[in-house]
Amino acid sequence: MHGSNQTKHWQALDAAHHVHPFSDTAALNKEGVRVITHGDGVYLWDSEGEKILDAMSGLWCVQVGYGNGALAEAGYEALKRLPYYNHFFKTSNPWTIELAAKLATLLPEGHDHVLFANSGSEANDSALKLIRYYWNLKGRPEKKIHLSRDYAYHGVTMAAASLSGLTPMHPQWDLPLPGFDKVPAPYWYGAKEAGYGDIAPEEFGLLIAKKLEEKILELGPDRVASFSAEPIQGAGGLIFPPDSYWPEVQRICARHDVLLHIDEVITGFGRTGEWFGSQTYGIAPDIMTMAKGLSSGYQPISAISLGARMSQTILNANEELVHGYTYSGHPVACAVALRNLEVIERQNLVSRTRDIIGPYLQRRLKETFAGHPLVGEVRGKGLLAAIELVRDKTERKFFPDPGTIGTHCRNYCFNSGLVSRAIRDTMVLAPPLIVSETEVEEIVAKLKNAIDRTAKDLGKL
Ligand SMILES: *Cc1c(COP(=O)(O)O)cnc(C)c1O
Repeated sequence: MHGSNQTKHWQALDAAHHVHPFSDTAALNKEGVRVITHGDGVYLWDSEGEKILDAMSGLWCVQVGYGNGALAEAGYEALKRLPYYNHFFKTSNPWTIELAAKLATLLPEGHDHVLFANSGSEANDSALKLIRYYWNLKGRPEKKIHLSRDYAYHGVTMAAASLSGLTPMHPQWDLPLPGFDKVPAPYWYGAKEAGYGDIAPEEFGLLIAKKLEEKILELGPDRVASFSAEPIQGAGGLIFPPDSYWPEVQRICARHDVLLHIDEVITGFGRTGEWFGSQTYGIAPDIMTMAKGLSSGYQPISAISLGARMSQTILNANEELVHGYTYSGHPVACAVALRNLEVIERQNLVSRTRDIIGPYLQRRLKETFAGHPLVGEVRGKGLLAAIELVRDKTERKFFPDPGTIGTHCRNYCFNSGLVSRAIRDTMVLAPPLIVSETEVEEIVAKLKNAIDRTAKDLGKL
C-alpha cells in the first residue's frame, strides 16, 4: 500500500471489515482499494486527489453524470418532507405516483402499469414471479420454463443468476435452479470461432433466432413460460444483434405463446439513442425491467412494467398480489428518479445521444481502431461501444485464456486515469450521456495509448 495516511487508514479499515462484490477480497486487500471520494460530470476523484475519466458511467448507470445538483435537491426535499413510507396499507405518495405516470408516457406502447423495486436483480426476480403468476391465472401452470441466452447478465438473486448465461456465476451457488434453460447469443463476431463458418450477420441473426425455436420445440411450447433477453447484451461483452434477429425472435415467441421479458437495465433511459432499447430495435415486450439509468444511479431504484396482455390479466385477478418490498417506490428514490427523467428531457440527452454525441463517439472509435493490428472489431450504438482485441484479425481468432489481454489493457487505462472495462478481451465504453466532444477525444486518446502499449507488449506494433 502507498499513499497518504488518510488513504492507508481507509484501505486498512476496508480490508478489515468490507467484503467486496465480484472481487477476490483477500487478493484485493493485499493491493489496497482505491477510495473514490467525489465526482463531477464525467470525472471522479480518489482520496489521493487523482482525477479519473469514468467512461463506464459507474456500472453503466450515471446518465446525467456526477454532481448534478438538481437531483441532489430533489432527494433532499423528499427526505425533509417524507423520508419514508410504504405502499402496503392502501397508501401512496406524490413522488411514486408521478414517477409511475411519467414512465407510462415514455415506455413502449401498452406499458401503462409499473411496479417498483430497488435493483435490477430484484426487478428481474419480480418479473419471473409475475410471469409464473400470469400463466397460473391463465390456467396453464405447466408453462414454467424460463429461457435466456448464453452471455446473458440479469443480476444476482437466485432467479436472476439462474437466468445468467455467464457460467462462472453458477457453481458457487449450485445454480441455475431447475426450470431454467439457455439458447445461443447472436454474437456474430464470435460466430467463426464457434464453428458457424463465414456466415453473414443477417443470416446469422436468423439462424440464432431459429435456435430459440428449436429449444422451445424440444422442451415443448406447453412448458415454456418466457424468454428473457437484453436488447443489447451488456455485461456479457456488448453483443449487438444483427437487424434480422429481433423481428424473428418476436415471431417465434408469438407463435409458441412464450412471454417476452426484455431486460432494459442497461439499454434504458437514452443509452442507445432512444428512451429504451426496445424502441431502437422495434421490440414489443410483454414485460420489461429497468434500473440503473432510471435514477442515474443516484438512488437504488428499479421498475417492472407490464404490457397490456399481462396487466389485463394480473390487474383483473380480483385477489391480493402477494409481492412487494419494504422500499418499493421509496419516496426519496422516486423523487430523484423523477428529477433525473426531467433533466434527461430538458437537456435533450436522448436525441443528443442518437444524433450527435453517439455518432461522434462511434465515428472516432472506428477511425482510430478499425485498422489497428490488435483490434478485430469496433462495434456500438448510441453511447455503448466495444473494441474487441484479437489474436488474428483476418481469421477472427481470439486469444487463448480470455480476459488476460483485456485485463492487461484495462490496467493501462486505469493507470492513465481512464475507467474502461474489459469483458473477456473486449474493451467496453459506456460514458455518461452528458459527455462532451472534448471528453470523447480524451477517452479515445487514452484508450489508444493503452491499446498501443498492449500491442507492443505482444509484439504486434
Ligand atoms: C446491472 C444489470 C442487472 C442487475 O442490476 P442490479 O441493480 O445490480 O441488481 C440486471 N440486468 C442487466 C442487463 C444489468 O446490466
